[in-house]
Parts: sequence; C-alpha cells; structure tokens
Amino acid sequence: MALRVGLVGWRGMVGSVLMQRMSAERDFDTIETTFFSTSSAGKAAPEIEGCKTYDPILQDGNDVAKLKGMDVIITCQGGDYTKTIYKPLREAGWKGHWIDASKILRMNDDAIIILDPINMPVIKNALAKGIKDWIGGNCTVSCMLMGVGALYKAGLVEWMQTSTYQAASGGGAPNMRELLTQYGALYAEVKDLLNDPASAILEIDRKVTAKQNAFTSEEAANFRGIPLGGNLIPWIDADREDGTSLEEWKGGAETNKIMGIANKILGSNEAPIPIDSTCIRVGAMRCHSQSLTFKLKKNVPLADIEQMIANDNEWVKFVPNNRIDSEKQLTPAVVSGTMNIPVGRVRKLAMGPQYLGAFTVGDQLLWGAAEPLRRMLRVLQA
Ligand code: NAP
Repeated sequence: MALRVGLVGWRGMVGSVLMQRMSAERDFDTIETTFFSTSSAGKAAPEIEGCKTYDPILQDGNDVAKLKGMDVIITCQGGDYTKTIYKPLREAGWKGHWIDASKILRMNDDAIIILDPINMPVIKNALAKGIKDWIGGNCTVSCMLMGVGALYKAGLVEWMQTSTYQAASGGGAPNMRELLTQYGALYAEVKDLLNDPASAILEIDRKVTAKQNAFTSEEAANFRGIPLGGNLIPWIDADREDGTSLEEWKGGAETNKIMGIANKILGSNEAPIPIDSTCIRVGAMRCHSQSLTFKLKKNVPLADIEQMIANDNEWVKFVPNNRIDSEKQLTPAVVSGTMNIPVGRVRKLAMGPQYLGAFTVGDQLLWGAAEPLRRMLRVLQA
C-alpha cells in the first residue's frame, strides 16, 4: 500500500525545491499526498502534473488529529513549527516517520541526520533499531560530505579544517533578494562613471565603498545591517561566546554524527574526529563553496585519493587540479541548480605528505537541503 505522506512547508524556499525534485523524480506517483499549510488551510492544494493520488484541499498544519493520519510527515516549515507540533504529535501517540529540514531535532540522540549516499549504513542501522526521526543536515556539512565523504568512509581523516564561502540563499529568500537589490544600487551609484571610459577607477571605487557603508538598516536588514553586495561577512549564525559561531560548531558535531561516530544509540564509542571551520558569507546566490585542509592518518598516494573521491557517488565530479578546469568547473555560477558536487584543487600541501588540500562547491538548496529529504522517503519505501 502507498505511504500516506503529509507535506508541510512545501511553498517556502526549501519546500519549493523539494517539490521540483519530487515532481522530476516522480515521487508523487508512488505515495498518497496530503498538503498542509499553517496559513491557508481550506484552499486548493497545489496541482501535481500527472498525479491523482493527493488530497485537493490544503489541510491545517496545526491539526494534530489530521497529521496523525499520515505514515510520514515531511516538513520544510521551519524550526518554530517543529517546536510547536512535534511533541504534541508524538504525545498523541503518532508513530510515523518525521522527516525535517529544520535543525531543532538534529542533535537528539534518537534522531538521524540523513545523507544516504554517505551514511546509508547508519540509516539502515537506525531503521532496524526503530528510529523514526530523520533530519536534514546543515547545508554546508551535507555538501562537503557529498564531495569528500570517501575520505571519511575510508577512516582516513585525522582532522579537517574548512574555510567556507556561503551563499546568500543560506539565509533565506529575503536575503537573496537583498543581495541583488544591493548589487543594483551599487551599479546605479556609478552607472554614469562606468559609461565614461575616461572616468577614474578610484573615483568609481570610492563611490561604491561609500554607498556600501551608507546602506540604511532597511537596505541591509537581512544580514543584520551589514552590506553583502561586493562584500563578505566573516560570521554566520549565533555567537557561542567561545570564539566560534554556531555554524562553525555544526561542522564538527554534524559531520561526526552523520558518519555515526560517537553515537551511543548506534553502538559507536569512537572518539569524534576533530573538525573546525571558519564560516564566511559571500555575495554568491545559492551555492556554498569550501576550502578544505585535511591531515590524513597516513600518507596515501595522490592518485589513490583522487580515485576514491571520484568513485564515491554518482554526483561527485572530480576536477583536475589545473587552472582551466578549476576556473570552469569549480564556481558557484556553474554548479547552481545542478546536483553536481565538483571537488578540485586536490593536492598534497607543503606541510607534509599527510596534509591534503581540496576545494568543493555544492548547491545548498539541493544536496544542502531538499534532496536528502526526498531520498529518505525512498529509503522508507524500499
Ligand atoms: P521559508 O522560505 O521562509 O518558508 C517557510 C514557510 O513560510 C513556508 O512553507 C510558508 O508556510 C511560509 N510562508 C510565509 N510567507 C511565505 C511566502 N511569501 N512565500 C513562501 N512561503 C511563505 O523557509 P526556508 O528557507 O524554506 O526554510 C525552511 C526550513 O528549512 C527552516 O527550518 C530552515 O532552517 C531549513 N533549511 C533552510 C535552508 C535554506 O537554505 N534556506 C537550508 C537547509 C535547511 P505556509 O504555507 O504554511 O504559510
């Protein structure tokens, strides 16, 4: 019998990408879908081309009794929704599978961070133990592991450090709009000077910098008043008041959890792998990029490492470490909107043969958010 699947948060940014992917992969053909809304219950549900097995009316996302009728709930509604609904739903005796894009339940002992091309054994182990909460990982962590997960699977990583270059989309739709509006305002500020070949570049530069620093709090509202257009911001998410941001903490905590390391419920007593990062917001639209430094547990020939990375999964694309391939294949603009995870700049570092550098780019709305959710549904159907 087809699973009854409730979708909450399907019209938000992550939800819309999830809908696109589920339609493209014809996931709706294999399930009975009910769409929920926290704002428009009673209105028409979205139409899904070629699929008849869905409730045509939007149900109330806060109606626990209605939610209880689902075998699976996929929510991209956000953390506040999870905080409000999850507990009452479980307390009401709901035993279904909860698949969630928000971080609220992510680090719970009995929740699994899902990234099946990387941690299918962990997912299978958890399924066998009756675990029912499946949570999408932090976008930067998921994209990184899709690229270099092979090194973790092989137990080769002694430690890893990453510097990230994260896109505006990580903040949400308003942040993407703000970035583009700022670029437009910067251009408008110097349009006449740009059209005059005789104008002085330092005058253009001066005007752009002055404009960036003069954006009003409304014009830069979504990045806490800091301009992102033509700029970068070396802090993402909450201040943990120990010199690190929450985004940086997630890198280590979630990578280890995804790999099933130090997870007592799954029977792992392994020591966590030290992983640290500096997370930086840059003026890219929707791809997160990362510069990675590894210390490996042993000296593995570069050609073997390249092969391991290239053969790990069908989405990773190994990029030869030369100027032309790196420029053409390793940029947010070329990766955006695709499932590809290119990994390049792979080389041994000057510090010694166990030190490895790499650079990777991933679409944070696809592998970083929506894709692991829809794939978990397929795992449940298998
Ligand atoms: P979002 O775009 O703000 O959408 C969340 C909900 O807001 C929608 O489902 C919708 O719910 C409501 N909404 C209100 N006004 C809307 C409008 N004008 N257009 C569309 N929806 C509107 O949130 P999101 O960025 O997709 O994030 C959802 C969850 O995923 C969060 O927990 C987030 O942390 C997590 N996540 C986000 C990203 C990311 O890159 N943004 C990545 C990974 C995980 P109703 O239909 O019920 O009104």
